[in-house]
Amino acid sequence: MSSNGNHNLHIFFFPFLAYGHIIPTVDMAKLFAEKSVKATVITTPGNAPFISKAIEKAKTNNNEIQIQTIEFPSAEASLPDDLENIDSIPSPDLFGAFFMATTLLQEPLEQLLLKQRPNCIVADMFFPWATESAAKFGIPRLVFHGFSFFSLCATTCMGFYKPDNDVSSDSESLVIPNLPGEIKIARMSLRPYGRSQATGFIKLLAEAKESELRSHGVVVNSFYELEKVYADYFSKVLGRKTWHIGPLSLCNRDMEEKANRGKGASVGDHECLKWLDTKKPKSVVYVCFGSTVVLPDSRLREIATGLEASDQQFMWVVRKRKEDGVEWLPDGFEKRMEGKGLIIRGWAPQLLILEHEAIGAFVTHCGWNSILEAASAGVPMITWPIFADQFFNEKLVTEVLKIGVPVGAKKWVGVEGDNITSDVVEKAVKTITIGEEAIDMRNKAKELSKLARRAMEEGGSSHSDLTTLIEELTSLAFL
Ligand code: UDP
Repeated sequence: MSSNGNHNLHIFFFPFLAYGHIIPTVDMAKLFAEKSVKATVITTPGNAPFISKAIEKAKTNNNEIQIQTIEFPSAEASLPDDLENIDSIPSPDLFGAFFMATTLLQEPLEQLLLKQRPNCIVADMFFPWATESAAKFGIPRLVFHGFSFFSLCATTCMGFYKPDNDVSSDSESLVIPNLPGEIKIARMSLRPYGRSQATGFIKLLAEAKESELRSHGVVVNSFYELEKVYADYFSKVLGRKTWHIGPLSLCNRDMEEKANRGKGASVGDHECLKWLDTKKPKSVVYVCFGSTVVLPDSRLREIATGLEASDQQFMWVVRKRKEDGVEWLPDGFEKRMEGKGLIIRGWAPQLLILEHEAIGAFVTHCGWNSILEAASAGVPMITWPIFADQFFNEKLVTEVLKIGVPVGAKKWVGVEGDNITSDVVEKAVKTITIGEEAIDMRNKAKELSKLARRAMEEGGSSHSDLTTLIEELTSLAFL
């Protein structure tokens, strides 16, 4: 047995097959492994190589962390062979089939549970059946949504009171019932298919909510000081048992670990960091829409035009699926922007970029990982939500924390996003970089960054919650 008595605790970590879910879950597994817990990340063969890179450093530190693969049921689900991650979906039409295919992972997971007999499983919200699987083996299942407390509370209140049925038009706003802070949201920012007929995905979300209630508890990638009111509301009013153990990204301490999260940078050997090294502190706007959003070329063109008109330096990560026939960059754009703007086509080392002193602001689609990474780095944001929990996260950033300005995206339109024009982009970029308001938001973000780091240190709120959780799981397993 190790000095802290956790030697025998073995936990399965089972993320949904998308970078935005795998990245924080792997960070979480690393954090547990640092505390002498044996951590096994469950995934499919196609996702194993990049996870393997992400845990390399933890392994050289002799932490007990490993990957266990189960086959993705491509053939059974009539999906292409190499489709094992949301990232490689060639068309949004296949999302439904992909989600449904993941339900077939239950049986292979249970075979692994039988073989390895872990003491607990932390499974993604999109695997509601994992609660039943854990129960078959008499072990606790913890849910990981990858959401903020704010979004967890907002979605629960929305699901319970269904206020969207009470407004007559999509442009009308509604107050999220009983959610602290009188938060208003336009109906058009809510899941569109929730208001039409039931679909497989709606059913999955309902099952996820229901399994959350039957599971042992919820682990949250957040820290208490960031969203106290909502952390308390989720546990004390909505009655969920929770542990906040983030920001998980802070478990990556050196350059190599920070660069090895996710897909692998598409720019050679930190080329973008060298570019940032040549810039003055807080002088560059970083633009990235996460790992799933693919904006249409017409929208990219508006961003390019707006960035140029703002007269600010920028680093812009562009994710494209295929050319759709529209010139996405105005004539001569790259030539004119030489030295002033850098476009990264593909994947960027986001954590390293956000932590670089040259970064002054972040245009984000409001994925929770991105927001938390920016807050941890003290970077204010321009919020440009596209879908999922992103519209709720925007409210937290702009109205509660006040460390960002909204670009004005209101409508949930699939993964393509609302129509935003270049003049609006220009105005938002100027607001976040120039003037009193900008300084105020930057100072607030800087303060949060300090609190985030403190939360993860010995005696900090997240550190303490993690210790409490490990103690509880240990006593459940061995006493
Ligand atoms: N990310 C990255 N480089 C990229 C795009 C994304 O490192 O070029 C990482 C980012 O740091 C974050 C995750 O991918 O950890 C994206 O998660 P988020 O919740 O922000 O958005 P999602 O991809 O789930 O929409």
